[in-house]
Amino acid sequence: MRRESCEVRLGPAAIGGGLPVAVQTMTSVDTNDTAACVEQIVRVRQAGGRIVRLTTQGVREAENLGNIRRELLGRGVSDVALVADVHFSPEVALAAAEHADKVRINPGNYRDAEGSRLRGLIKKCMERDVALRIGVNHGSLAPQIVERYGDTPQGMTASAMEFLRVCRSEGFDRVVVSMKSSNVRVMTAAYRLLVAAMDAEGMRYPLHLGVTEAGNAMEGRVKSSVGIAALLAEGLGDTVRVSLTEEPECEIPVAQRLVDYFAGAASSHCGSAGEAVHSAAVNPRADGQKHPPRLYSELSPGELADCRIISYDGRGPAAPYWRRAVAALDGDRPVILHRRYDEQGEALWVKAAADFGPLFLDGLADGIWIDAARNEDALALAILQAARVRISAPEYIACPGCGRTLFDLQGTLESIKQRTGHLKGLKIAVMGCIVNGPGEMADADYGYVGAAPGHVTLYRGREVVRRNIPQEEAIDALLELTGR
Ligand code: SF4
Repeated sequence: MRRESCEVRLGPAAIGGGLPVAVQTMTSVDTNDTAACVEQIVRVRQAGGRIVRLTTQGVREAENLGNIRRELLGRGVSDVALVADVHFSPEVALAAAEHADKVRINPGNYRDAEGSRLRGLIKKCMERDVALRIGVNHGSLAPQIVERYGDTPQGMTASAMEFLRVCRSEGFDRVVVSMKSSNVRVMTAAYRLLVAAMDAEGMRYPLHLGVTEAGNAMEGRVKSSVGIAALLAEGLGDTVRVSLTEEPECEIPVAQRLVDYFAGAASSHCGSAGEAVHSAAVNPRADGQKHPPRLYSELSPGELADCRIISYDGRGPAAPYWRRAVAALDGDRPVILHRRYDEQGEALWVKAAADFGPLFLDGLADGIWIDAARNEDALALAILQAARVRISAPEYIACPGCGRTLFDLQGTLESIKQRTGHLKGLKIAVMGCIVNGPGEMADADYGYVGAAPGHVTLYRGREVVRRNIPQEEAIDALLELTGR
């Protein structure tokens, strides 16, 4: 059963209520470059996306949304909702509410100690018939939240609830909420906790699902799919953004595959959100260290004979079936999950990640068998890594890029992946800008962050170690830093 949510209209689109889960993306070019934004939005529309977010770092960018909308109308595109992405400045949020269909603010960096600026924004949104997203990000919680709760799903929930209560007290219900993290375990726990907190206070705000800084290619699709599928399978989620370090229109088919896969297939597993979090936290198989799950291809015939293999040969998502089957087992023989796939490429990556990922995320299996035309060990390892139960490669925390990006993010990420592929277990962040990048790269070991056009600042953890170095030297300098 899908969680009940209220319907929130944003201009020509809508989210929540009984509507199908909406897919969305974000432009990656300068928001002042009207023509470039319009080109991207037209491509997104052709791919099936009807909600597009644009970064609005200043009033000028916020005001340019009006020009972008006019150009779109001139191109015959009238059914795409424009969302302004605001960080830091309540003034920019007010300006954005004049031109956008929805405004996203991040409670972690919205400078508003007393909540009065938020009330002002809500008033403006009500006057202008504009929706609001309370977009919490694991990497950029407010200092007072981190002090009290740590950098945790509980802190993310407290942050969201604080802003949601203000919205409710103002009688404003055109609100969507998100709880993103690049760590899939944190992200799923945060959404589940938020739902429990909202249920306790009778709130029905729609959920925007996403895994931040998921990267690109197979790994990016798998990481997003594991986190988003775990929640869609529980009936949670009203809109989805798959965040990839690729062109915006590439995100839409991935998101749509996930949505279509779970349409009408949500299980009642989530019954208790708190219970789901608890079981993931205490299950010894979920610790990622003591019992790292195995690939089918790694097991000897003798080991296989000692396992229980649970095969799924239905048509829809396997996760609900596997959950029931695992719950009905007794004894402690290792459990291997098996499914045969006819798909390949992106279709296989998304489907397999959506099937297996939620089970490994909750520590419910010991082995993975993706039965396909070719050897899919790399895919199986990517799923286990996304669920953080077996680490076999470096983890890349790469932002998708936006109007603030200061270098060729897509090419740089590829180069860094090629040069650092041997650094198993290291978390390497590749972030487009110094304004949000350091905050949002969360728990990365090293960070490669755009500092100025053509220049990069390198981080070890949260500490700057090389400032503003030319981009041509930056990958060598990053490798030197890692010492490997
Ligand atoms: S880190 Fe900077 S460039 Fe990357 S998506 Fe976030 S705001 Fe945009």
